[in-house]
Amino acid sequence: MFKERIYWKFSAYFLLFGTCVLSIALFLLNQHAQSYIRHSVEESTQFQHRRIDSALNYMVEAAVQPVVGIADSMEMNRYLQAYDEEDHATLNRWMQSILAASVSHYRIELYDESGAVRISYFTNSYQHIRQDKSSHGIQRFVPSELTFTPSHPVYFTQIIGAQNYLFPDGPKIQVMEMITPVYKNGHGKIIGYVGMFINMTPILNVMTSNNNLDLYVVDKDGMIIATSEQTKHGIPTLQQRFDLTDIHSPDQLSTHELTRYQVNYFNNHQGIAVYSRAADSYITTRTKELHHYLFNIVLVVLGFSIIFGFLVAIGPSRTVSRLKRVSKQRNQYMKIMDKYVPVLQTDPYGHVTHCNSAFSILSGYSEEELRGQPASILSFNRGDGQSKDMWDALRRHLPWQGEFHNVSKTGREFWLFSTVIPIHKRGKIDHYICVSTDKTEKKKLELLAEMDSLTELYNRAKLDKCLIQEQERAKRYGTYFSVILLDVDFFKRVNDTYGHLTGDKVLHQLAIMLNKNTRVIDEVGRWGGEEFMIVCPETSLDEAVSVAEKVRIAVERYVFPEVGYITVSLGIALYDVDKTLEQTIDEADKYLYEAKKLGRNRVASRESKVTSISVRRYRT
Ligand code: GH3
Ligand code: MG
Ligand code: MG
Repeated sequence: MFKERIYWKFSAYFLLFGTCVLSIALFLLNQHAQSYIRHSVEESTQFQHRRIDSALNYMVEAAVQPVVGIADSMEMNRYLQAYDEEDHATLNRWMQSILAASVSHYRIELYDESGAVRISYFTNSYQHIRQDKSSHGIQRFVPSELTFTPSHPVYFTQIIGAQNYLFPDGPKIQVMEMITPVYKNGHGKIIGYVGMFINMTPILNVMTSNNNLDLYVVDKDGMIIATSEQTKHGIPTLQQRFDLTDIHSPDQLSTHELTRYQVNYFNNHQGIAVYSRAADSYITTRTKELHHYLFNIVLVVLGFSIIFGFLVAIGPSRTVSRLKRVSKQRNQYMKIMDKYVPVLQTDPYGHVTHCNSAFSILSGYSEEELRGQPASILSFNRGDGQSKDMWDALRRHLPWQGEFHNVSKTGREFWLFSTVIPIHKRGKIDHYICVSTDKTEKKKLELLAEMDSLTELYNRAKLDKCLIQEQERAKRYGTYFSVILLDVDFFKRVNDTYGHLTGDKVLHQLAIMLNKNTRVIDEVGRWGGEEFMIVCPETSLDEAVSVAEKVRIAVERYVFPEVGYITVSLGIALYDVDKTLEQTIDEADKYLYEAKKLGRNRVASRESKVTSISVRRYRT
């Protein structure tokens, strides 16, 4: 089986099928995985936004509350109006405490209404709080540039790089100052400001740390303040303009969607925004995982497809091999049939639709010549009713078997023993198939056995058969037939005068005449000596008399080359079911005798007794 091509063909089909299914599955899985990655990136992004919000909320609140608290205090109000020493001392203490409250509180300062420094504290590299007297009196800002509203009572400056007091030689740290005004007696006029510098590095770290995302914090001027890359690797602040094409190739831009998130905590810094996109490393890792997963699926499915293909191919390949064998055998049979068994196919009306080679050879007609012709063109005696029985059976949808006496294109007679089978389609006869065997040789021998050698007419034995056959038919169909017995008048004289051999010749010529002057359906034979019999199927007595009379007149008028004129006498009997064959023949014989008795050269029967008398003429 494994040697057969068909087996490998089937295996290959199954493998191909497996591969197709696999490809579709992989495509769908890949689509699904891509959308899964996109979804998880979206989730990460949203999570990061919430993280940024809550971290800022915490940080801003933690920084703003104490600063606003000290700005709103009575002591502050009083100090900025009177510059009282006691209030100064209290404010100094409070400011130191606020500075100490958080590591991100980096510097705290009190400004008078012109924006000049009045008190200044900062934390040094040892986390010690120091007063910065050197900055006293320095104008930090122009107050008119700051805007305060009841909903935004705090002003935030830009985030800038500042000297790192913790590591003076290290990179600058990110610093932002928040400034809140001090109102005179809690209303109207601003009499000073409290400002606090916040170390933004920890909060920027929180804002930019996420394993799945690349994050960029960008200020309103478009400068990058922090990036996740920088956070991860401790790279110094990028004092660099945020330009998409710097961080993305155009390719990446289309595949790595960039999300912008506006940070709202710094009221006068609406421009601070966080840009994020899926980190390359995250995409790479997920894609690798996906490919690994898909590769495993490919291995498993292909493995199964191969094994399954090999196993499943066994069944169909066996069936196909068997079919091939059967088909080969069938073709052989068909060839043999085509060559040796004559087959004719006709439509329901008996017109030829197909014939095989054997039939063509036998009939001498090519298939093209026969196609469309009625099958009866092959019949030797067309219209002799030989196929009546057949059509009776076929019309009842029954197969029929019987003999056909046919004639070939060249006029050669041939006999077939045929089986005609009606082929049905949807309850109707679609066509007929006629399978035959050539019986010509056998038939010829049979005919020879049935033939009288002198006259070449039927012999006595055949006549007996014909009589029995006609009797049976008459019985079956309720019909009748007539028997005519013919005897040559004074034949003895012919013999005596011209010799026996001439007598024989006369008998032979007479036989030819009988054949000529009788109908095709009539069966003519030599009954014995110079006596002949004509069996006339389905023929009444009157019709038989006509036949006999025709014969008699023809003989009477014929001039036999050797002997001139001779005459014949004929006796007729009608068979009907009430009689036996012997009785019928006896009756015919009786009327023949009657004809002789009445003077010969006449026809005698029950009704007519004698039908005619003609003048006898002899040469001698
Ligand atoms: P009819 O019948 O008119 O009474 O007279 P007939 O001379 O024919 O008398 P019959 O029937 O008695 O004689 C028949 C003769 O036919 C006898 C025989 O010599 C002759 N005959 C019979 N068979 C053959 C035959 O095969 N060849 C020849 N040449 N003659 C035959
Ligand atoms: Mg006789
Ligand atoms: Mg005679």
